[in-house]
Amino acid sequence: MSLVRAESLKAYYITKAYGVERVVKAVDNVTLEVRENEILGIAGESGCGKSTLMKTLLGIVQPPLTVVGGRVVYTVDGKDVDVTAASPQELEGVRWRHVSYVPQGSMNVLNPVRRIKHTFRDFVAHRVQRMSQAELVKWAAEHLKSLGLPPEVLNAYPHQLSGGMKQRVTIALATLLKPKVIFADEPTTALDVIVQRGVIQLLSRIQREEKNSLVLVTHDMGVHAHLTHRIVIMYAGKVIEEGSTAKIFSAPQHPYTQYLIGSLPVIGDKEYRVSAPGNPPRLDRPLTGCRFVDRCPKAMPQCRQAAPALVETGKDHKVACFLVSPEEEKESA
Ligand code: SF4
Repeated sequence: MSLVRAESLKAYYITKAYGVERVVKAVDNVTLEVRENEILGIAGESGCGKSTLMKTLLGIVQPPLTVVGGRVVYTVDGKDVDVTAASPQELEGVRWRHVSYVPQGSMNVLNPVRRIKHTFRDFVAHRVQRMSQAELVKWAAEHLKSLGLPPEVLNAYPHQLSGGMKQRVTIALATLLKPKVIFADEPTTALDVIVQRGVIQLLSRIQREEKNSLVLVTHDMGVHAHLTHRIVIMYAGKVIEEGSTAKIFSAPQHPYTQYLIGSLPVIGDKEYRVSAPGNPPRLDRPLTGCRFVDRCPKAMPQCRQAAPALVETGKDHKVACFLVSPEEEKESA
């Protein structure tokens, strides 16, 4: 069952300067779902639309970001909630309980002049029934302990904690109300590799124990390989490949995914790793054809004339490339 769905979602940045409108198509016709009890990875290089997609899925849409088409739907207790049409009050009712968020650079989201216990108090103030300060501290201390943090953390200011501890505190806030889906945007960026490992293990443990779903946005393919069950690969605002992590890593079908997987270092392998030449296209210009065409070593004349659709190429595997055949064509061949 899906808990969150994006249906033909289009989220553009629309700005106007000196009477000239500029439209950046950051998320362009994206359809995907977050299923129950899974870790879904969203991968792609910087600027491909990962973070914009995440904000839109969370309903955090503020100008210049505008949803111009499609919708986002949450399935809450068996009922669909259209997030793109919901009022702020309706969103407040599902946020942190159905979906929660570990933001990018989350170590810096803690208020530097508030003790951690006050941040917890601010967080729960409008979200749970009234509770005394003592009850709140007990609840927060137990939750922190379950995530490997001592209760003394509650009395600390953010600057007194290490980067890894601050990251765990933000994960504690995001998981306090037992949400069904947790979105984590680059949760290991700016952490050293040892701390990264701890954060990855923590997120993985929470997902296993709570049987909730985790949506992990990162450009780090190593993190995807270790943690996720399925991966969505984005390029220039579009989903270009989607499938189980095992399939994407063992048999990537889109040339861009092949570059991504091929760039991963292998211990002992001295072969030179080639990256995709050139840069992604500008998303504020009219784009026809495949968006990867200028960087693709396998490009054909037809790739400039029309954009390939995202088609099912095997069980739970979709690809947007003219080189691959849809499942039904293979069956009838
Ligand atoms: Fe390359 Fe064409 Fe496939 Fe695009 S559609 S990835 S240009 S082969």
